[in-house]
Amino acid sequence: MKIKTFQDILPLVERPSRYLGTEINSIKKDTDKVRLKVALAFPDLYEIGTSHFGLQILYHILNKHKEIAAERVYAPDVDMESYLRSSHMPLVSMESHKPLKSFDIIGFSLLYELNYTNILTMLDLSGIPFFSSERDGLFPLIIAGGPCTCNPEPVADFFDAMVVGDGEEVVMDMARAWLSWKENAYPDKETLLRELYKITGVYIPALSDCKKVTRAIIGDLNQATFPDSPIIPFARPIHDRLRLEVARGCTRGCRFCQAGMIYRPVRERSPETLLALTEKALAATGYDEISLLSLSTGDYTSLSTLMEGLMGRCDSRHIAVSLPSLRAGTLTPQLMKLIKRVRKTGFTIAPEAGSQRLRDVINKNISEKEIFETVSNAFSLGWQTIKLYFMTGLPTETDDDLQAIVALVKELRKIKGPKGHRENINVSVTTLIPKPHTPFQWFPQLTLEKSRENLDWLKQELKMPGIHFKWQNPEVGIVEGVFARGGRQLSRLLVDAYKRGCKFDGWSDRFQYRLWEESFSRQGVDLNLYTKSPWNIMDSLPWDHVDTGVTKEFLAAERDRALNGDCTPDCRRGDCNGCGVCDFEKIEPKIYEACEDKSNVDSVKELSQKDAVVPDTKEADYKKVKVFYSKQNHAKYFGHLELANIFLRALRRSGIPVKYSEGFHPMPRISFHDPLPIGMESMNEFLYLTVPGNLKPETITILLNKHLPEGLLVKDCQISCSRPDIKQQKSATYLVKLKEGCFDKQKLNDFIKSSDFVQTRVNRKGKVKKIDFKDMILKINLTESRTMMIKLRSEPGRTARPLEIIKGIFNLSEETIKQATIVKQ
Ligand code: SF4
Repeated sequence: MKIKTFQDILPLVERPSRYLGTEINSIKKDTDKVRLKVALAFPDLYEIGTSHFGLQILYHILNKHKEIAAERVYAPDVDMESYLRSSHMPLVSMESHKPLKSFDIIGFSLLYELNYTNILTMLDLSGIPFFSSERDGLFPLIIAGGPCTCNPEPVADFFDAMVVGDGEEVVMDMARAWLSWKENAYPDKETLLRELYKITGVYIPALSDCKKVTRAIIGDLNQATFPDSPIIPFARPIHDRLRLEVARGCTRGCRFCQAGMIYRPVRERSPETLLALTEKALAATGYDEISLLSLSTGDYTSLSTLMEGLMGRCDSRHIAVSLPSLRAGTLTPQLMKLIKRVRKTGFTIAPEAGSQRLRDVINKNISEKEIFETVSNAFSLGWQTIKLYFMTGLPTETDDDLQAIVALVKELRKIKGPKGHRENINVSVTTLIPKPHTPFQWFPQLTLEKSRENLDWLKQELKMPGIHFKWQNPEVGIVEGVFARGGRQLSRLLVDAYKRGCKFDGWSDRFQYRLWEESFSRQGVDLNLYTKSPWNIMDSLPWDHVDTGVTKEFLAAERDRALNGDCTPDCRRGDCNGCGVCDFEKIEPKIYEACEDKSNVDSVKELSQKDAVVPDTKEADYKKVKVFYSKQNHAKYFGHLELANIFLRALRRSGIPVKYSEGFHPMPRISFHDPLPIGMESMNEFLYLTVPGNLKPETITILLNKHLPEGLLVKDCQISCSRPDIKQQKSATYLVKLKEGCFDKQKLNDFIKSSDFVQTRVNRKGKVKKIDFKDMILKINLTESRTMMIKLRSEPGRTARPLEIIKGIFNLSEETIKQATIVKQ
C-alpha cells in the first residue's frame, strides 16, 4: 500500500484526531498571503501540548497580526513517526499541513528537560540540521522559550535564539525584527541574530560577545493578552477545561522551587478582569469546568471574591471550578464549600516534607496543625480521596525525616469522613533535583542508589489499605538532573542518546535508562559533576549568565537560612526580602485586595449576576428532540467520547439550554445512537436531547451547525414523541470503497455460494472466538468494481462489523482495510 500524502497516513495511526488541526478556535490563514509563518512547536504528544497555556497565548498574539500566520506542531507519536519515515514524508504543521521546513520561524516550548530528545526527532523529521552552526539564513530560524531556558546551555547549540522570561512582548518584537531583516538584510543570518539580541529576554548562543541575558518580565498581568478563544483540543488532553491564569509568580519562597524564583514577583489579574475573561472564554469554548491556574492559587488575594463571582455565573450552568495548586492553610472551609456547590474536583496538598524541621529548611511555611485542619475539612466536606506530595533528597534530610513522612500519612489516615469511615490517601514522592536559580542550586542530588533505597523504604512502610503510593522513577530523575544542571557540552550527549533511540523520555513506559547509560559512557559524561558533588558557593555555574532578576547573593543567603532552619516570609504584601527582581517602578508585586476596595467587590458581584443564564423552564415545559446528523470526512476520526464532548460543547456555545438530570452529579440529558467505530463515516446518525418546549427544532439545527467542527452537519431535528429507539435498528447498509485496486469478483462469488462464513474475533481480553456471520449478511453486491454495498443485520448482543466481513471475504490486508472509505447510509 503506497502512502502518497499525509491524509493517507491518518487512517493507519492511533488517535488520528490529534493530527487534524481542525479544532474549534484553531486559526487557518492562507500561508501564501502572509509575510511571516511561525510554527509553534511542542516537543511532546498532542494531549500534553494542547494543555500548555503558554503556547495558546503566543498563538493568540501572533495570529492577531494579519501579516503573520502562527500554526502548531506537536511531537508525532511513534506510529506516525514511523509512517512519515517509511514514506519519506516530512513532519507537517497542524493547520495547513505544510512541512515545518517551509516556515520562517519554528519556536519550541521547553517545559521539561525530558522532552529534549523529541526536539531532535522533530527537526530530523523536518530535514533541518540539529546544530545552529549548520543552518544558514535560508533555513527557518529555530528559537525556544519556556522555563527550561533559565539554564539554556544543555540545548543552546541547537537554537539560533532563546527567550528567557515572559514571552508576550518578546514574541512580537522578534517577529518585527524578522520582518525587517527579511526586507533589508536577508539571508545574512548574523545580522538577524544581532538585531534579536537587542531585545530584552533574548539570548543568542552562537555569538560569543552576546553572552548575558536578562529575563523579560511583564509588569502588569492585568493588561497582558489572554487567549479568550482558546483552541478546544480533540482526543483526550490532560487538561480538558478552561484554564484561567489568575496570577503569575509566587513569593512564598519555597527554596527547592525553581518556578517560585524565576517567575517573581507575584502579579495577579483583578477579579473583574478574570470574570470578564471567563465570560468570553466560556462563550467561545463551551467548557463545563474552569481551572484557576497559578503557582499557588490558594494564595490569590481575592480568591473568595473571585470564587463567589464565578459561582454566581457557573452554578446554574453546571460549570465546575477547580483549584489545581493549593497550600494547606490557604483553603478555608468556606472556599471548599464554594467549590463543592457545583462539583467536587480533585484535592491535592503538598507538605513536601514530613517533619516540621525539614519544612522549615525548605521554607514551606506550613505547620502540621494546618495540614491536619485542611485534610479534616476536606474529608468532612465529602472528599473521599486526597493527594499528598512529598520529596526525598532535600538538603539536611535524615532517616528521621523519612520516618516523619510515614508518621504524618498514618496520622492523616486516621481522620474519619462524615460517615464515620476512613478515607483514601494517595501519596506521591519524587526525588529533589536541585534546580538552577534556587537556593538549593549548590547542593548535590541523591545518588541513584540512595534515591531507590529511600523510595523503596517509603513504599514498604506505607503499604496499607487506603494508602496508594506513587513515586517518580529515580533513573528519570538522574537524566532530568543532568540536563537541568549541565552545560553546553551536553548537546553531543543528547544527539548520541537520540541516535540510540531515546525519545519520549518523560513517559515512564518509553524511558530507556540503559540507552542513556550507554550515551553517558560513550560521551564520557561524569554524573558526579552534575548530580552528586555539591558546588562551592564561589564556583561559576553553567547558568550564571542568565539574569532572572533574583540575585545570586539572595540565593546564597537563602541557602544559609535553610541550613539554619530560618524561615523567610512571603513578600507579596510589601515586606521586601531583597531578592532583587523588583525595581518598584514597573516591576513590583501586584495584588488585588478585594476587601480594601469596596467598589471592586460590588462590581464583581454585579458582573457575576448581569448575564447569568438561568433557564426559566419548568419540568413540564421540556421536550425531547431527535437530532439527525452526518459524520463525514475528518469527523470520521472522532471516537465516541470525543464526539459526545464536541456536541456538548457546541450546545453550550450555541446557548441551547439542555435539561440536566437531578442528583449529586447532574448530567445533561443527551443520548447517542450506538457509537460508530473510528474511521467510519455516516450519513444518518442521530441523538436525543431534552430542551425547553419553546425552542423550535429548526432553531436547534441552525444553532448547532454554526458551532460544530468540519465534517459534522445536523441535517434535521424533530420533536420525538416516542421513547428513544436507540437499540431498535434491525439492519444497516454500508458502502465500502477501496483506496486502490478492485474487489475480486471471484472471491465474492465464492462467498455467495458458501454455506457458512466463519471468522475469528479476538476480544479486548485477548479471548479468541469463532463466529459464523453468514446469516448476518442480508445483502452484498458490487456497485462498481471498487465500491461494495453491504447490508448487515443488527440484533442485540450480536453484531457484524462491515470491515471485518469485507476483510474476510476478500482477504485484504489490515492497512488496505483501514484506508478504505466506509460510509453508513
Ligand atoms: S524584590 Fe522584594 S518585593 Fe520584589 S519579589 Fe523580591 S522580595 Fe518580593
